[in-house]
Amino acid sequence: MTGRAYNFNAGPAALPLEVLQQAQAEFVDFKDSGMSIMEMSHRGAIYEGVHNETQALLKELLAIPEGYQILFLQGGASTQFAMIPMNFLQGRTGSYVHTGSWADKAIKEAKSFGNVQIAATSEANKYMNIPALSTLNYPQDAAYLHITSNETIEGTQFQQYPDTGGVPLIADLSSDIMSRPLDVSQFGMIYAGAQKNLGPSGVTLVILRKDLLGDVPKSVPTMFRYDTHLKNNSLYNTPPGYSIYMVNLVLKWIKGKGGLAGIEQLNREKTGLIYNAIDTSEGFYTGCVDADSRSMMNVTFRLANEELEKQFVKASEAAGFIGLKGHRSVGGLRASTYNAVTRESCEALSAFMAEFQRVNG
Ligand code: PMP
Repeated sequence: MTGRAYNFNAGPAALPLEVLQQAQAEFVDFKDSGMSIMEMSHRGAIYEGVHNETQALLKELLAIPEGYQILFLQGGASTQFAMIPMNFLQGRTGSYVHTGSWADKAIKEAKSFGNVQIAATSEANKYMNIPALSTLNYPQDAAYLHITSNETIEGTQFQQYPDTGGVPLIADLSSDIMSRPLDVSQFGMIYAGAQKNLGPSGVTLVILRKDLLGDVPKSVPTMFRYDTHLKNNSLYNTPPGYSIYMVNLVLKWIKGKGGLAGIEQLNREKTGLIYNAIDTSEGFYTGCVDADSRSMMNVTFRLANEELEKQFVKASEAAGFIGLKGHRSVGGLRASTYNAVTRESCEALSAFMAEFQRVNG
């Protein structure tokens, strides 16, 4: 293939071309140091400058209030599924909203560490909706309420977040962080693997309200303790410096797009093109999830039968589209329209869908 693909991968996913080009230009000799950023000490001034600037950019773009700390961790969002109960449960109950595949993984992991309660589940509806916030039911002395902001596989997304009062709200934002404005003060903690909206894989962003950290049992290993990373500004051990540098470039790119309000506008337009292709297809395409729970990041849809879906994937690949096959656990089709997926890609997909329907409808 020549040029850039129409990349709808679910993660790792498209990165902004401008970011890749800047990284390329700086690859061999970063800031006249005579070396790439991958080759320098994480204790040196140049790397530390990037590290701290990345935190400052996050603070600015997300308007993070005082009292929170930004951490750059490793092990992906999946490691957070364990770190959260390890650091916060301590004999108390962790409450979870069960919205689909990723919530399920978080719940299963937490069960190894203590008492888990389900505040609501959309299982009866095959995870095709986000439960109404008014139906959430959790103990007022729960250690936290955990939600999965965007279910990457099913294609649902919280449109609003619950007001949990005194119970800290913890959210997995792996697949929708920085896609729209966020009121961080609503949360005790948010976390996200970088490889969808923030940069390459290898770094996990955690934003944590510092006063939530109580005494963590000595049995919790050093690297699995938030306090270790908090005290050391995420430099207790060697950080994933190259990934953090890429996040830095992506954040500057987001700033250039008008910050999160600008990005949200773009995302709404992009995803709107694809949902519109589904909704105007007179049933040729059907959206998988309830209209009021539709994700602005992962558009999931189906055709009349699996054979036709296979044909769609094949024809789309021949036309230069990547990543439209749904997750193997649920089948169907999925277009992931993260921040860096261009409007042009979405226009091309919408036109492709109309043409495929014309030929096969
Ligand atoms: N949570 C969500 C919502 C995800 O989409 C993913 C990855 N697709 C994960 C968690 C797991 O992330 P990681 O691969 O970084 O562990």
